[in-house]
Amino acid sequence: MSRANQPLTHAILRVFMNDLAGIYLHIPFCTTRCHYCNFATGGYESDLAQRYVAALRTEITRADLAAHPALQSVNTIYFGGGTPTTLSIEQLHSVIALCRETFAIAADTEITCEANPGTISEDFLTRLRAIGVNRLSFGVQSFDDGELQMIGRSHLAEDARQAVRMARAAGFENLSIDLIAGLPEQKMETWQQNLNEAFALEPDHLSVYLLELYKDAPLLHRINRGELRAIDDELTTEMYFALKDEAEAHGFDHYEISNWAKPGFASRHNLKYWTGAPYWAFGVSAAGYDGARRWSNTRNIHEYLTKIEAGESPVAETETLDADDLQSENLFLRLRLKEGVNLLDHERRFGVKVTERYADELARLSEAGLIELNHDTLKISRAGTVLANEVFASFI
Ligand code: SF4
Repeated sequence: MSRANQPLTHAILRVFMNDLAGIYLHIPFCTTRCHYCNFATGGYESDLAQRYVAALRTEITRADLAAHPALQSVNTIYFGGGTPTTLSIEQLHSVIALCRETFAIAADTEITCEANPGTISEDFLTRLRAIGVNRLSFGVQSFDDGELQMIGRSHLAEDARQAVRMARAAGFENLSIDLIAGLPEQKMETWQQNLNEAFALEPDHLSVYLLELYKDAPLLHRINRGELRAIDDELTTEMYFALKDEAEAHGFDHYEISNWAKPGFASRHNLKYWTGAPYWAFGVSAAGYDGARRWSNTRNIHEYLTKIEAGESPVAETETLDADDLQSENLFLRLRLKEGVNLLDHERRFGVKVTERYADELARLSEAGLIELNHDTLKISRAGTVLANEVFASFI
């Protein structure tokens, strides 16, 4: 039997079972479609949303707890999308309440809701806080109205400033802001302005993504027609490091390649994705993981609804990970984290001595200055953070 086909050992399974699980809930509605978005989402319609919430609740009640003992206890719930705040408080509450009835939800569970700054009011946020949501992630993307309009966002910069103020007034003590770097026509001055505005709002967490355009993105068509000019990688890299240095100067910890947090405010839910913890996933396109198997639901909302209503599974794809897949994932996912990979822990869990198995790759990446190997810890270097995909590919 090859290493790749070896079954999971009890030691590996035990490690996964020690982590509490998360729950991801996908809400596939938005008020408008952004010009770069490739998520499974569509326009909000009240009747469709009502039918969708009913289907989501049905999918939750069908969660096979007996088959997934590692996922019975939960300490994070994450509403992503789409724009979860297109749903009513009553709809969101009904989903949270059902999760509480179905799973063993820890008292200090982190409950995050992604929010579009243009879709909320202070009253809505106060009620959202009252139903137990304790973390908000605002899709701000830019504080420049011209940039926001160019990428098709439905809100203005002032909406984002107000959203953060309203969230604080509503009692939220854990706020995250998302920005996008590398937009067409973006200049270092406009990026710097974005950073100034972001830090002035004193969020607890920042996520920054480098713009990537899928092949049918309207924004890409405009670039291809010559209406907009894409910026080069060098400038995007400069923007990333400007953010990194400034965030650290403001007391943020760069705990993951795209994420910065004030002490104690790292996203507990997203950390599950990078540390191999298990998570449930409900809704269109949602992807779950039980420590050995990954599955994802159909991306088509009508297929999702039809299947759930007919008593069928909405799962479109499943992948069973063998021992070698798991050790490889442990390497490239943990390399995303500031703390890197503890090689002794990796060997203990997976039986793989990284310095021997990947000797050639480590030598090449080290020579290129993309990784740092100190004693028993392997980390991505500062230069490696902007060439991370190249580093990760070495361990697949
Ligand atoms: S708000 Fe988010 S999910 Fe909705 S269209 Fe824009 S980028 Fe996509």
